[in-house]
Amino acid sequence: MTITDTQPTSVLESSVWDGKIYTEAWTEGSAGSIDVLEPATGEVLGRAGMASAADVFAAATRAARAQKEWAAKRPEERAAVLRRAGQVFEDHADELNLWVQRETGAIAAKAALETHVAANECFDAAGLPHHPAGEVLTSDAEHWSFARRAPAGVVGVISPFNFPLILSIRSVAPALALGNAVILKPDPRTAVSGGVMIMRAFEEAGLPAGVLQLLPGGAEAGAALTEAPEVRVVSFTGSTAAGRKVGEACGRNLKRAHLELGGNNALVVLPGADVAAAASAGAFGSFLHQGQVCMTTGRHLVHESIKDEYVAALRAKAEHLPVGDPTGQVALGPVIDEGQRDNIDRLVKAAQDAGAILEAGGTYQDLFYAPTVLTGLDRENPAWAEEIFGPVAPVMGFSTLEEAAEIINANEYGLSVGILGDVGEAMKLADQVHSGKVHINEQTVGDESNAPFGGVGASGTGSRFGGYTANIEAFTETQWLTMRPDIAPYPF
Ligand code: NAD
Repeated sequence: MTITDTQPTSVLESSVWDGKIYTEAWTEGSAGSIDVLEPATGEVLGRAGMASAADVFAAATRAARAQKEWAAKRPEERAAVLRRAGQVFEDHADELNLWVQRETGAIAAKAALETHVAANECFDAAGLPHHPAGEVLTSDAEHWSFARRAPAGVVGVISPFNFPLILSIRSVAPALALGNAVILKPDPRTAVSGGVMIMRAFEEAGLPAGVLQLLPGGAEAGAALTEAPEVRVVSFTGSTAAGRKVGEACGRNLKRAHLELGGNNALVVLPGADVAAAASAGAFGSFLHQGQVCMTTGRHLVHESIKDEYVAALRAKAEHLPVGDPTGQVALGPVIDEGQRDNIDRLVKAAQDAGAILEAGGTYQDLFYAPTVLTGLDRENPAWAEEIFGPVAPVMGFSTLEEAAEIINANEYGLSVGILGDVGEAMKLADQVHSGKVHINEQTVGDESNAPFGGVGASGTGSRFGGYTANIEAFTETQWLTMRPDIAPYPF
């Protein structure tokens, strides 16, 4: 019995999907299945079907066939499917939220955000089929000239464990709306939140079979998406190391790759800022979902004039935030698995070996890592230089805006920067930082379905998801089309 079996109108009834992948129907994958574990308790919540590389190649052939019929449907038919899928996320939010909480170790607010954004991604994408699909161009020749958009064809979506629903649906929904077929490969640790939910929503919404296929699997299945000839675009969200491999393979195979990768995001606290409000923002930025967010505040850069006060306030937050089973009243739940926990602990210990002072935390029990604050770091300290992907807040001081900009830009990542305090000064700093997004008077974590999201440098290729312009750019190809009344005359 799983948590869904008790729901009266379950969209995640386990007998439908348990241990299965989805091709044109729920079926067994060639790589068997794995247990879906609840990180807070170790309980088995169900089984995720696992796909092999051969399954992915077969899915790509099937997708290429299904895509042609899907793209030929009237825009209003595609829009209606997207609207109905969004409605499934709204109608079943309670059931889906509980799954997100238990499978990903999320507190209730994070789970609710995932399903809310999932619905919005579908509703926003429902506008895409009727959105103008190109431009009428002027021409010096005697013909009409158009740039028209066509679906890319088959789109592969590879997503990570941390915000699995949002990071899958943000590509799946617009890609489908624009007439593509999609093969979705979620992280197998969160195959339900990152895959089964989406597959079930579109199944309920009446999407024709084969247009969306769900193939959970490991790196081998992901790599197959970069090799299958029918897949024309790969949308990858995950680590920079894996993203480089995906980008290399896509380059070799002349596929487009949208790479959304890691981050080491700075939160700058300017002189004169409200320290209590800044520490609250900083704690949220570093500790939300146990720091397992690409936009997590990984570096706190605080003006020397208020640094000690800020550290004291942040330490107090870290010491008092409740940690525990996220289905209860806590601020932090567990990290996803032992590997993730051990990597966090290794970096915290290495930071101290390199001279950092442990102000709070630095301990764990099972998969629950205590909110941690570090000071006394230099720029080479691993906790400052590397992405930790855990609930760790390293704090460093700065004196001038130029110094702050230089410290921010010295890091290879460029995903998100938050600047707290005087808006005029913040604007000057915003102009100097190399970052995919800048939030003035907000911390570093933020995402909205209609805002173009993406990073630069080691955070990605600068590609964007979110909003019509970015999504059309990401999931269509452009054809130049000219026409004239008669065959053109030529000199020979
Ligand atoms: P990961 O790169 O190990 O895994 C992400 C996905 O890629 C998984 O589905 C995995 O199975 C697959 N994968 C792994 N190796 C692959 C390969 N060689 N070819 C194809 N697919 C492969 O990432 P992770 O460590 O589990 O996730 C955390 C990372 O993701 C962090 O670095 C985080 O910053 C990043 N992230 C980025 C964003 C963003 O939008 N920029 C969002 C969330 C997470």
